[in-house]
Amino acid sequence: MANSRQQAAWRPDPALNELGLPKRALLRSMARGFVGRCPQCRTGALLNGYLKPVLECGACGEDLSHQRADDAPPYFTILIVGHIIVPVMVTIVLSTQLSTATHMAIWLPLTLAMCLVLLRPIKGAIIALQWALYMHGFEGRGDPDAMPEGLLQHSKTTADRT
Ligand SMILES: [Zn+2]
Repeated sequence: MANSRQQAAWRPDPALNELGLPKRALLRSMARGFVGRCPQCRTGALLNGYLKPVLECGACGEDLSHQRADDAPPYFTILIVGHIIVPVMVTIVLSTQLSTATHMAIWLPLTLAMCLVLLRPIKGAIIALQWALYMHGFEGRGDPDAMPEGLLQHSKTTADRT
């Protein structure tokens, strides 16, 4: 009796996520995005130019148009650069007798350079994270932020009346 109950118990498929879609390797995808490659195939480019994301992979055709990186890449860039620059800067300022102008000549360009170097790979990693976790429409069910069709029709007819 207990055995048949155990056999009948439902178990989630370990290859599928909670949406019933195939699991995607998060760290591998983010590593591919970090170097500017498609999280699906690692061959196609993820970004066109410095920061513009591609709509689909040129190599495998994966739809990458659902990315919503928004403010996350600059946020994480500032977070990382700040946690590196500030302790080093404080240590150097307290242990040397350099002038303020010299410090500004060192820290401002260094901070700017680090931000410019890190922003692109962090944006790639964020887009790849969203892809790997099926966020923002990457699950193939359309844009979850879009207004449902019925509400869209309702708002159009309401707008026509006013
Ligand atoms: Zn691809």
